[in-house]
Amino acid sequence: MKIAVLPGDGIGPEIVAQAVRVLNALGQKFDLEEAPVGGAAYDVAGHPLPPATLELAKKADAILFGAVGDWKYDALARELRPEQAILGLRKHLELFANFRPAICYPELTAASSLKPEIIGGLDILIVRELNGDIYFGQPRGIRTSELPLFKGAREGFDTMHYSEPEVERIGRVAFEAARKRGKKVCSVDKANVLETSQLWREVMIRISQEYPDVELSHMYVDNAAMQLVKAPKAFDVVVTGNLFGDILSDEAAMLTGSIGMLPSASLDKNNKGLYEPSHGSAPDIAGKGIANPLATILSAAMMLRYSLGMPAEADRIEKAVQKVLAQGLRTADIYTEGTQKVSTVQMGDAVVAALS
Ligand code: NAD
Repeated sequence: MKIAVLPGDGIGPEIVAQAVRVLNALGQKFDLEEAPVGGAAYDVAGHPLPPATLELAKKADAILFGAVGDWKYDALARELRPEQAILGLRKHLELFANFRPAICYPELTAASSLKPEIIGGLDILIVRELNGDIYFGQPRGIRTSELPLFKGAREGFDTMHYSEPEVERIGRVAFEAARKRGKKVCSVDKANVLETSQLWREVMIRISQEYPDVELSHMYVDNAAMQLVKAPKAFDVVVTGNLFGDILSDEAAMLTGSIGMLPSASLDKNNKGLYEPSHGSAPDIAGKGIANPLATILSAAMMLRYSLGMPAEADRIEKAVQKVLAQGLRTADIYTEGTQKVSTVQMGDAVVAALS
């Protein structure tokens, strides 16, 4: 099985190195091939997603991705900025379904800013549509306003749209995922204001009839943002569009206390996927050896489960992570008094040791 390894920038290479060590310690044969992406690729090839990196990603069975971005690339033209590599990979590989589990491990309840009784035992899944919505809608741009009140002023504009097949395919992904979990889907939209959301809701109701064993509910996005902090455990699977999902998945990530713990998967229609931690390249701590590698290690576990058909190996990794947390090992971002602070590499060592 071929895995494209794209470490990227900032802490990307440090955390991906630990995930690769864990994969290699499973005793299975993986064909791992590395390529530069993001700012690192711009430095060597003049583009954040060079053709050779894209080619490798296309022919691989799965992609293990670190993170991209650094302040030193902020002055580049938009199409050359590191973050364009992710958008390019999503587009070229048609990765339309983003899975972001937000799990609060019992040992880390204290790291959350919410009360233990609200957050303890949290296990929810945000399913975000990734290829459509206002992020890709045309027309878009900056023009001269024709509005009577603001005539002649500059105005920015974007277009939100979703077609029925786009909603259907992300809806089915969410219902299938719910079937393997708590059998509840909450579809988040803004149907009281947006036509796009009205269609979204109609389609969700229609396809829900194919899943009589799964309970469908609907929530407006503003209420969902509130309920996520008020009663997050009431959710099982949340399905939503690209814009709302971008915001809600980050909110859900922070419920658990550390973004350094949260994996993610972006899948195409055949379950080929790109696996990456939910956080960015953290340039503020890059090179210090203190980044938490667990989100990337858990992303590798998701890769084994969703794209490579190796659920037993995925379980082994997840259990090893729980074991090191139970042993009291913590990187700086999840450290609390009474636990043992470890470096990125020491955390990798501990997970590898816990695998056996
Ligand atoms: P960030 O997620 O990189 O960092 C936010 C904060 O969380 C920082 O204080 C950082 O030190 C901390 N943090 C993040 N990951 C951590 C880890 N594994 N262990 C310990 N602490 C961790 O977000 P940001 O600072 O807004 O963005 C930095 C760069 O990352 C920007 O260039 C941004 O565009 C990019 N970015 C990339 C991705 C991606 O590659 N998918 C996602 C988000 C942001």
